[in-house]
Amino acid sequence: MSEFAIPRYNYAAQFPGLADEVVPRIAALLERGDYIRGPEVGEFEARFADFLNVRSVVGVNSGTDALILALEALGVGPGDEVIMVANTWHSTALAAVRVGARPVLVDCTDSGHLLDLDQVESAVTPATKALIAVHLFGRTADMDRARQLCRAHGLHLVEDCAQAVGARWAGERVGGLGDAGCWSFAPAKNLAAAGDAGAVSTNDAELAERIRLLGHFGQPAQNEHLLLGHNSRLDTLQAILLLHKLPLVDAWNAERVRVADAYRTGLAGLPIRFQDAGKPGEHVQHLFQIRVAAGVRDPLLAALRERGVDAVVRYPVPLHLQPAFGYLGYGEGAFPVAEALARETLCLPIRPDLAPADADYVCRTIREHLIDAGATH
Ligand SMILES: *Cc1c(COP(=O)(O)O)cnc(C)c1O
Repeated sequence: MSEFAIPRYNYAAQFPGLADEVVPRIAALLERGDYIRGPEVGEFEARFADFLNVRSVVGVNSGTDALILALEALGVGPGDEVIMVANTWHSTALAAVRVGARPVLVDCTDSGHLLDLDQVESAVTPATKALIAVHLFGRTADMDRARQLCRAHGLHLVEDCAQAVGARWAGERVGGLGDAGCWSFAPAKNLAAAGDAGAVSTNDAELAERIRLLGHFGQPAQNEHLLLGHNSRLDTLQAILLLHKLPLVDAWNAERVRVADAYRTGLAGLPIRFQDAGKPGEHVQHLFQIRVAAGVRDPLLAALRERGVDAVVRYPVPLHLQPAFGYLGYGEGAFPVAEALARETLCLPIRPDLAPADADYVCRTIREHLIDAGATH
């Protein structure tokens, strides 16, 4: 149970049919014993490939591993550079480092909060091997321009889809729009396992086989190691849970959009900006950001939390200002938009089962706080 009246997550609500459908399959698995590489893994991979309309899906252990394995299988390695946006989750840049490459950061756009594609061109060097487009907060990046830039410069295009299951670009779901789509099914994502889980999606069957090999000790057959691989497979247990949830994702995303629309309407007229949601289908509202003036954000966050609303800041420190990436040599001021978003945004609770009355309460709380705060000046 959450300490908040309006919590950010309600995992229990994600299992309609838990006792009748899910628990018996798990019980059968526990007795069968094929916990790794059981048949449900292949079943989920095939269903998810159908859902995405891609040729292949390979289950792996996490979204971080999906990015690492995709880059490695694409041949990105030491001496190479990988371009990505400064405001993303740690893993996007970490994956480049883990294959021996250097993350090259660019800023994001003020309205979309996504990769500023105008800045990619000047970040390209002879060492650039790949561009990672992150569909951050559930919003699809401009994939026409990303593809055009990658074609023009001979770069691999990797989609970080961790927050964007079901999101579309020009009618097509993300995940098959570049060379590889990287998925996380960590518990907080729109499609979530009960623990760590991930996948790579691709239309390149050879790339898929290479990723499968890399994730299984480089081992095409027992005791035959063709490559130096990893131990990164999707567990059978997680595949069972994901199979149960996959048919529900589109309806859940529609509910998230409903909550987002309620927030946009309920907060209209206040000094608040929102992430540009693009065309219908381009945003699956993994998170819902509001943006206020820098000095307003922290007191507003505190007021919301005090009144039972589990609001949070994603992400308070951009990648280039994290100690771990200090060695890249970017300082304060390198990416002004990403830095402004880190100071000015917060996320309101958003989940498919968030009641309209709860969204109203959140809006009312914000409105009262901003009006009270305004009155004291
Ligand atoms: C969650 C996430 C990841 C990493 O996924 P894990 O499964 O936690 O390793 C990568 N990129 C983004 C944008 C994410 O949100």
